[in-house]
Amino acid sequence: MKAEETTDTHTHVVIFPCPVQGHVSTMLKLAQLLSLHRFHITFITTDCIHHRLHRFGDIQALLQTHPTLQFKTFPDGLPHNHPRSGESLVDLFHSINLHAKPHIKHIVLSAKPTLTCFIGDGVFGALTVDVANEVSIPIIHFRTISASCFWTYFCVPKLFQSNQLPIRGDEDMDRVITCIPGMENVFRCRDLPSFCRGTESDIVFPMNSMAFETRETLRARALILNTFEDLEGSVLSQIRLHFPRVFTIGPLHAQLNSRQDSNPETTPSTNCVWEVDRSCVTWLDSQPLKSVIYVSFGSIATVTREKLLEIWYGLVKSKKRFLWVVRHDMDGGDRVPAELEEGTKERGFIVGWAPQEEVLAHKAVGGFLTHSGWNSTLESLAAGVPMICWPAFGDQHVNSRFVSEVCKVGLDMKDVACDRDIVERMVNDLMGHRREEFLNSAEALALLANQSVSPAGSSYSHLDHLMHYIKSLGQ
Ligand code: UDP
Repeated sequence: MKAEETTDTHTHVVIFPCPVQGHVSTMLKLAQLLSLHRFHITFITTDCIHHRLHRFGDIQALLQTHPTLQFKTFPDGLPHNHPRSGESLVDLFHSINLHAKPHIKHIVLSAKPTLTCFIGDGVFGALTVDVANEVSIPIIHFRTISASCFWTYFCVPKLFQSNQLPIRGDEDMDRVITCIPGMENVFRCRDLPSFCRGTESDIVFPMNSMAFETRETLRARALILNTFEDLEGSVLSQIRLHFPRVFTIGPLHAQLNSRQDSNPETTPSTNCVWEVDRSCVTWLDSQPLKSVIYVSFGSIATVTREKLLEIWYGLVKSKKRFLWVVRHDMDGGDRVPAELEEGTKERGFIVGWAPQEEVLAHKAVGGFLTHSGWNSTLESLAAGVPMICWPAFGDQHVNSRFVSEVCKVGLDMKDVACDRDIVERMVNDLMGHRREEFLNSAEALALLANQSVSPAGSSYSHLDHLMHYIKSLGQ
C-alpha cells in the first residue's frame, strides 16, 4: 500500500509512553510513522522528558518534518533532582500511577480534532484502559518488550498454578520451565523476568505488578509489539489465542528508516533524552572492519564503580578495540588505574552517550556487550551484530536467553560474577574463536529483520493494517 492511500487528516491518535528513554523513543517512532501518513498525533509525556527531548533530541527538526505531531506534557510528581533511573525508577512508576490520570484525561478531553483512539503504553495497563474507558475512546496497548517476554509475563500466574514457580533458592535456578506454551523448555528459572525471583504475593497479586498490568491488555482493543513474525512466530501464535488483534511492526527503527527513505520530504531526527556524542563515529571511521566491540548498558541500568572497573579491565585485557558508553550518572570515579588509561588510549574510546543505531550499523562494529534491553537487542539483530548479554533486571533476563539459545547470536553472561577474567574470555569468544559462527547467524537474522520492514514484508503490512484499523475506529 502506498503512503497516500492511507493519508488521513482527520484521524487523531493520542500516544502515551512510559516516560523513560527506551519507551519514549520507540513510541515516538510510531508517532512519526503515523504522522508520515498525515494522522494527527498528540504525544503525551512528562515535563522532564519533554525538557530533555528539547535539549538533547532534535525536536525542532521533528516538528518541522511532522507538522501533524504535537506534544502535551504534565509533571511526573517527582522532585526535580530525582535520578529517575536504576532502582529508583520504581518511584516514577508509582508516581505516574498515582498522579497522571487527571492530566491525561484533561489532555484527551481537550484534544482537537476529536480523538480516534488512544495508544497507551501497556506497562501502565490499568491506568491507560481506565482513562480510555472514562472518556469513551478506544484503547490500543503498545508493549515495548519482546513477544516472548510479554507472553512470559502473561503466563506467570499459570506458572504458580502448575508449581513451576516460586523459585526455591539458588540451587533451583537451573530448573527448566516446561509449561510456557510455544517456549517449552527454553527458559530456566534464572531466565524468567527478574521479578519472578520473588514470592507469589509479590508477583501476581499487587496492582501495578508486571503480571497484573500485562493481563490488563485483555481489556484493550488491540496490541502492538515491536517485533517481527519471523523472529517470534511461535510465541505470537500463542499470544493470538488470547489477544486476537496483534500488530507486529518491528524493528520499528528499521521500519521508520525504510519508510523515511522512500519519502524525500522527511529528515531523520534523534529521539534522545541524553546528549549524543558523535565523536565516536569519527573514531569508528578509522577502525578496521568489524574489529570493535560496542559496550552499553542502556539508559536506566546503573553499574557500580567496582563492576565498571572489572568490565574495564576485562576489555583492556582482551586486547580488542572497544567503544564504551559510560553515562554521566554512572560512578566512574576520578582515579583511574594507569594500565586502564593506557589500554583505553591504545584501543578504546569512551563516551557519555552514543548514536547507538548508527554505531551498531557501522562497519567497524563486530560485537555488542549489552544489558539486553529489548530496543538494544532489536537494533543489534537488525544490524547483524552478535551480542554478549549481561542482563540487569526486568525483561533483560528473558532477552539474553532468547539471544543466546533461540537466535544463537551471542553469549549469555547472566548470573556470573562480573569479573575481569570472565569479561576478557567472553569478549575473546565473541570477537575471536566463535566469531564466524555468531556472525553467520547474526547476518541471517538481520536479513529477515530488514525484509520484514520492506514493502513486501510482514511488519510493513502489519503497520498498514494497523493504520486501517485505527481509521476504522473513527467511522
Ligand atoms: N541508546 C542510545 N545511545 C546510548 C545508549 C542507548 O541511543 O549510548 C538508546 C538505544 O539505541 C536504545 C535505547 O537507548 O534505543 C535503550 O533502550 P533499551 O530498551 O535497550 O534499554 P533501556 O534503556 O530501556 O534499559
